[in-house]
Amino acid sequence: MQLAKSYAISLMGLAGTLIEVEAEISSNLPNFVLVGLPDASLSEAKDRVRAAIHNSGLEMPARRVTINLSPASVPKQGASFDLSIAVAILAANGVVQSEAVASAIHIGELGLDGSIRRVAGVLPSLISAVNAGFKRAIVPMANLEEARLAQGIEVVGAVHLAQVAKIHGAEIEFEPPSVEPIIRVESPRAAQEFNSIDIADVIGQVEAISALTVAAAGGHHLLMVGAPGAGKTMLAERLATLLPDLAHACAIETTAVYSIAGHRLVQNTGVDSLIVRPPFQAPHHTSSVTALVGGGMGSPRPGLISLANHGVLFLDEAPEFQLPALESLRQPLESGEVVINRSGGTARFPAHFQLVLAANPCPCGNNTGKGKRCVCTQGQKLRYAAKLSGPLLDRVDIRLQIQPVSKTQLAMLKAEGHSNKSSKQLREIVTEARARAAARLAGTPWSINAQVPGAYLRKHLKIDDGVGQQLQKALEKGSISMRGFDRCVRLAWTNADLAGRDKPNEEDLAEAILLRGSENPMEFGHA
Ligand SMILES: [Zn+2]
Repeated sequence: MQLAKSYAISLMGLAGTLIEVEAEISSNLPNFVLVGLPDASLSEAKDRVRAAIHNSGLEMPARRVTINLSPASVPKQGASFDLSIAVAILAANGVVQSEAVASAIHIGELGLDGSIRRVAGVLPSLISAVNAGFKRAIVPMANLEEARLAQGIEVVGAVHLAQVAKIHGAEIEFEPPSVEPIIRVESPRAAQEFNSIDIADVIGQVEAISALTVAAAGGHHLLMVGAPGAGKTMLAERLATLLPDLAHACAIETTAVYSIAGHRLVQNTGVDSLIVRPPFQAPHHTSSVTALVGGGMGSPRPGLISLANHGVLFLDEAPEFQLPALESLRQPLESGEVVINRSGGTARFPAHFQLVLAANPCPCGNNTGKGKRCVCTQGQKLRYAAKLSGPLLDRVDIRLQIQPVSKTQLAMLKAEGHSNKSSKQLREIVTEARARAAARLAGTPWSINAQVPGAYLRKHLKIDDGVGQQLQKALEKGSISMRGFDRCVRLAWTNADLAGRDKPNEEDLAEAILLRGSENPMEFGHA
């Protein structure tokens, strides 16, 4: 009996479990058995591994081969175990050195010809491998750039099983291709847009841009109400351009999510690289709950809200979303993560996103109190507004009514040569404001104002009596709710951070009350 081991990683959400792949060759009749809770795609691994070994100029043992994947209780899905199964067999058969094989993590899908194919989830797998104490990994060459983002582990990119066998000491002819086949692709649409869009593209809308700056500085969720064509989408897309670069840990986390989703990690450079700019995701209002929060058949995949991790999630025409889709955002908004329960375990994906909701003032879109006639009934308007009421809107600090820039205004602004600050300029101001908030909140679990709960605000971040008197009176009279009160205080602190003040003054609070907007944000003229 000959025995050898190799190691692979099984992912559940971002968390990886070390899988021991044990190969045993016994003297029984030729057979190939795979045990340890493999799913269907893993069973197909047998055919791929057998053919790949043969087509690498190596021999499959002409005896009984048993592969055991353990721990058996951990679900194992997908084709990324192929490579570790193949090298375990080669090691058991004495073709390669067992110690070399067992000292590295092997990740990769095999083609029937022995080629090694790109797989999803390499970055989070390698982070788990480092935590399990591994110092070396063999990954598909097509994943090499991504694999190099993991720190503390040497990674080798391979294109063919024969190449891996040679690395592990097989006496075999294999010339690795002279050109590293790292496929450079065009940046995906989102990345190009990021590179080409700037808040300075927006003409006029000075108040809206100022509100976006506050939203960016404090991490405040935002609602924009306005007629179709008022510029809501243009503004929302540019919020992400005002956010500072992601801190390293956040960048790794977000990149890992994109890796599991099978996305190329291309933001600016054309090769896989760390996602350092806050992502922007704008799901369509027909999106399913699964598309939004993740899940699906087989291994759970992250949804769009996780792809917006540490960035902006924009729901255009928010009242048009299915109610279950809107409700599915509640829990992630509270906890910053998505939890998907499966029979085999629980997958967790991070989902810290800044929510931007956009809505028309009414189903027909004309109820702006300006010129055009609204054709909606009162009932239709109420139902439309009600879709956004409740828990989702409770989390939104800034409620903004957007008026389109008229042709006259536009001509005037152009004639004056007026232009808004650039995204880069505002990003610097936002970064400074965030630093002030982070310093004040040091020692708490929060770093931006939007995260601070009301109870903490009222106890530790009270606004000076002289300044907050009017707000306090409004609360006592009942003309403002406790939530509304907290929202104003939170926004006042962000205004103070932006202005470089140690504490909010009257101006900051007055501005905050404006930003908080109406309790009935869909009603124009009642702000
Ligand atoms: Zn209407």
